[in-house]
Amino acid sequence: MKIVTKIIDVKKELKEVRSHGKTIGFVPTMGYLHEGHLSLVRESLQNTDVTVVSIFINPAQFGPKEDFKEYPRDLERDSELLEREGVDYLFVPDKNEIYPEGYETYIEVLNLQDKLCGCSRPGHFRGVNTVVLKLFNIIYPDISFFGQKDAQQAVILKRMVQDLDLDVRIEVLPIIREKDGLALSSRNAYLSQEERKAALVLSKSLKEAQSMIEKGERDSVEIVNRMREMINSEPLVKIEYIEIVDMVKLNPIARMEKEALAALAAYIGKVRLIDNTILRVEG
Ligand code: AMP
Repeated sequence: MKIVTKIIDVKKELKEVRSHGKTIGFVPTMGYLHEGHLSLVRESLQNTDVTVVSIFINPAQFGPKEDFKEYPRDLERDSELLEREGVDYLFVPDKNEIYPEGYETYIEVLNLQDKLCGCSRPGHFRGVNTVVLKLFNIIYPDISFFGQKDAQQAVILKRMVQDLDLDVRIEVLPIIREKDGLALSSRNAYLSQEERKAALVLSKSLKEAQSMIEKGERDSVEIVNRMREMINSEPLVKIEYIEIVDMVKLNPIARMEKEALAALAAYIGKVRLIDNTILRVEG
């Protein structure tokens, strides 16, 4: 695996790759890798000729009071994991490489960026869109792999790709969870043992939502209320939002038909976690 830090170098390397007619798969990450990230990497390795992973903790997507400084980092371990998987290139730019002195250009995807997590994290998706578009322009991937874990991010990036006629296919892969249901996240590293146990109520509430649907419930308000009640029974957990929305515009849905996204964000102590599931009505 080649580790590259400069845009000019990675562009040169990948131009060579493309000149041989090879396809490029790309997995953007913020590092501190876990099986969720690796599931994307493996899918890329299986479906494209050359796999590029980036690790960049993007300052533009963190609010002033968020955890940019504390975000977990372990480049040595990450590169070992990626090397073992057989990744071809690891791109690790520094902040000034991506946002040099005088940087002024940002990408906004209107409306979608203000929903769900956008309410409490203004500017977050503007930062995500900007860095992802920049990375697409640097790497020029045929396919880029993202996790359903960040469901809103996936919807927004698909919109951006369509709106800007980008020549990249976005693949969204399922959420990888611990055996007990907790969705893998780099931020889980912040949780104490007690908090981790409390955090299980998030995935449990999403399961409960699906099981209510299986028992015939179609009223979203009823489902959200039940989820809220379950989560509120855990004193360590504070709900930021729970919503049931459509999967394209992310607008709230009153009655369940076919499928919808149940998405939530909550604080477990100081740690903000997100989780979601696609609710499906059988038949
Ligand atoms: P991050 O490093 O948090 O920016 O995540 C990089 C990519 O990994 C994003 O596309 C995430 O959606 C994806 N990802 C993070 N956690 C998981 C998970 N538990 N399962 C599947 N994909 C994930």
